[in-house]
Amino acid sequence: MSSLLQRISRAFLHTVFPPKCLICGDYYDSRQTHAGLDASYPFSDLTELYFCEPCRKDLTPIVPPFCSRCGLPFVSREGDNHTCSECLLEKKYFRRARAFGVYDGSLMESIHMLKYRKKSSLARPLSALARETFFQFWDVGGIDLLISVPLHVKRLRVRGFNQAYLLIRSWAKKDGITLDGLTLCRSRWTEPQTTLSRPERRKNIKDAFSLRHSEKIRGRKILLVDDVYTTGATVNECARVLMKAGAEFVDVLTLARAV
Ligand SMILES: [Zn+2]
Ligand SMILES: [Zn+2]
Repeated sequence: MSSLLQRISRAFLHTVFPPKCLICGDYYDSRQTHAGLDASYPFSDLTELYFCEPCRKDLTPIVPPFCSRCGLPFVSREGDNHTCSECLLEKKYFRRARAFGVYDGSLMESIHMLKYRKKSSLARPLSALARETFFQFWDVGGIDLLISVPLHVKRLRVRGFNQAYLLIRSWAKKDGITLDGLTLCRSRWTEPQTTLSRPERRKNIKDAFSLRHSEKIRGRKILLVDDVYTTGATVNECARVLMKAGAEFVDVLTLARAV
């Protein structure tokens, strides 16, 4: 009953005060957003309160087939998941990496707005997408610790928050998973990776992370969380440090995946 009342009052409110899309800033009618989207679209309920229909259509959730290791979606939409050539050549310290969507369009835009323009209202829908992705690939019993990829204290001071931590803070505890934002730290300053090639990224990030209490890691099933997986150099380096400290395994969850 209360949910029906909530729906009615929400519909009324949205008629008088239509929601404003957090990405493009347009006012939109959230009651119509279902009509324009494919019924199979899996994340409709989560985003309709925050994003207009064109922006929601511009999200590209990652669907099989993708690399069973790094999660890279394959160009061919036929066949089963298998290991990509990159994962066959390069050592990966994590067990598997999964992401909500492709790093382009409105997903890229919303991550940039959160990170660089500090639009904190985006933390809510984006962390809801991260949570949804978590339950798509893992369950609470399968993970002991959620660890966000840390920022160097200098960058944290400038930005004011860690976007990876924001993606899990609101739900980890509620869902019964321990969130650890302190044990893994970024002890060495690194230049931004964005303009670097794949080998340069690997070199740039090497030995950038350390552990405050390595005994907290031993024997634990760890899920490492970040906003974007680009070449995987950052999460792979974190995973190397965690595995060296005796983690049972390290898996990776990111909101977006560059393709
Ligand atoms: Zn929009
Ligand atoms: Zn791969």
